[in-house]
Amino acid sequence: MEATVVKHTGSHYLLSSLPEWNLFPAVLRGKIRLKGSNATNPVAVGDRVRYEITPQAVPSDKSGGNDAPGQEVPTEQNPAVITEILPRRNYVIRRSTNLSRQSHIIAANVDRAYIVVTIDFPEVKLPFLDRLLVTCEVYNVPVTIVLNKCDLYGEEYRDRVEVFHSIYEGAGYPVMDVSAVTGMGIDAIRDACKGMVSLFSGVSGVGKSSLIRALDPSLDPKVGEISDAHLQGRHTTTFYEMYRLASGGFIIDTPGIRGFGLVDLAREEIALYFPEMLKASEGCRFTPCTHTHEPGCAVKAAVEDGTISYERYSSYLGMLEDETKYR
Ligand code: GDP
Ligand code: ZN
Repeated sequence: MEATVVKHTGSHYLLSSLPEWNLFPAVLRGKIRLKGSNATNPVAVGDRVRYEITPQAVPSDKSGGNDAPGQEVPTEQNPAVITEILPRRNYVIRRSTNLSRQSHIIAANVDRAYIVVTIDFPEVKLPFLDRLLVTCEVYNVPVTIVLNKCDLYGEEYRDRVEVFHSIYEGAGYPVMDVSAVTGMGIDAIRDACKGMVSLFSGVSGVGKSSLIRALDPSLDPKVGEISDAHLQGRHTTTFYEMYRLASGGFIIDTPGIRGFGLVDLAREEIALYFPEMLKASEGCRFTPCTHTHEPGCAVKAAVEDGTISYERYSSYLGMLEDETKYR
């Protein structure tokens, strides 16, 4: 039988037969390791897994006769046993530090990531946003940028909001203007999430929790509760968790300051994950081209004529420099 991992706490898992929401406990059989992975968690939220149920001996004096074999429901005492992790379509990792080889898989099989940002309160840091976008490109996760707190951006913010839209829409990313407070744009996100597994990320303070509550008032990421409290067992350290939206679809919250982290890229690979630069680089005279000093560089030409934004290009240069520094 197959199901999806919706929660992982310590050595215990909760599975659900998505799109059904029938949470049941599971454990891993032995040491399942993914080839070539140095992740600290072999199974992540969003993973599709195969599992088995061990039939429990039914005491004969209690023979109701209705419990057909193979119809057992896993319980805390007799959890399902995960026997296999099915191939992932994609996944998002978090690395503890820049130099660390260890990584934690935050989520697998993500349909779309929503990166929540604010023009102000707190002010969005474009180089950091661009790193997140690069991470999503590397892991093949489509992104929507959610510009929250739009209720606060009056006339005096008009230019900054417009520039932000033009930078990111110009790079090929959809940008949704929303407000968790007034409800502006919330229906549009809710519709987009239907039938999907969506990842929500954003630095603390941007209103990610407020947004998730606006999408579905029964969810409270800050509390992190799950209605089936008895299924949680004694391992209370929650890592990541999938929630069901009442309106349809499933979301994964990525708590923490940095959301999810950076990937290990060689210098010459970085530009491949800036979609607008990748496209422009077809016109570069040299391959590979670092788009810094080479003559006949089409990317630099595009930056000069404004087709590629200077902000994105400068994030790229920053990433190039970091890769040089850390190697
Ligand atoms: P998180 O750290 O990203 O989960 O942010 P929270 O959801 O806790 O929100 C941080 C602060 O921003 C809180 O004081 C919220 O009330 C406020 N906030 C969240 N969304 C909005 C919004 O759309 N407009 C305004 N004005 N404030 C918001
Ligand atoms: Zn070039």
